[in-house]
Formats: sequence, structure tokens, C-alpha cells
Amino acid sequence: MSDCLFCKIVAKEIPAKIVLENEHTVAFRDINPGAPTHVLVVPRRHVINLSDEGADAELLGQVMSAARDVAKKEGLTDYRIAINNGAGVGQSVFHLHVHVLAGRAMSWPPG
Ligand code: 5GP
Ligand code: ZN
Repeated sequence: MSDCLFCKIVAKEIPAKIVLENEHTVAFRDINPGAPTHVLVVPRRHVINLSDEGADAELLGQVMSAARDVAKKEGLTDYRIAINNGAGVGQSVFHLHVHVLAGRAMSWPPG
């Protein structure tokens, strides 16, 4: 999608600190980190969020596998995976992304 921020990062039209990329996904550091490690993992293909019918099991598996690979590359054993699914719970960029957060104490449930 031409007006999507994360599609532009995937296309390298907007710079980002890439942590890992493969055929299906790109992982990059959050511009406003909420933890010492805060990486976003996105599918190269534009889907809005989990509720998008384009977010099929194959794509979701690729994104979650990439999140696991990011954690491994960053040397993380304990980390939180989060998805804000919809504006009402804080989704602000409407291209599916998994947050990988680590490096500080975390409370539950999240705020
Ligand atoms: P959401 O609130 O949609 O779950 O998460 C969107 C995330 O994208 C936020 O944590 C925000 O800091 C991050 N973000 C917004 N704009 C940019 C950007 O231009 N570059 C990077 N690397 N992260 C961004
Ligand atoms: Zn997009």
C-alpha cells in the first residue's frame, strides 16, 4: 500500500534500523522504544492486523517465527510478544506488526 508507513520501511523508502529480514518478513527497531529491546516484526505483504482476512496462518506463522528469530539473535531468553489489534487497544500503524519487548521488568496485565 503506497501510503502505509511500514510498507515504506519494507520497501526501504523510509530508513529503519533493521534487525533481521527474510523472504517474508522484516524486523526493525521501534523508533520510540518502550523497553531496552523493542523490535517490530512485520510481514512484507500488507495486511492490516489479525482481523484482516489476508492474515492467514502461513503469514502469521512467518511473523511469529521471525519474532522468535529476532529474540534468538538478540540473545533474549525472556521477552514479551504483543500485538495491538485495533485502534481501541492502541494500534496506531495499520500494517500488522508484532512487538518484541525485553530488558526490563514487566507487569501483567499490560496497561
Ligand atoms: P502500535 O501502536 O500500532 O501497536 O505500534 C506502532 C509502533 O510503531 C509504535 O511503537 C511506534 O513507536 C512505532 N513507529 C511509529 N512510526 C515509526 C517509524 O517511522 N519507524 C519506526 N521504526 N517505528 C515507528
Ligand atoms: Zn503496509
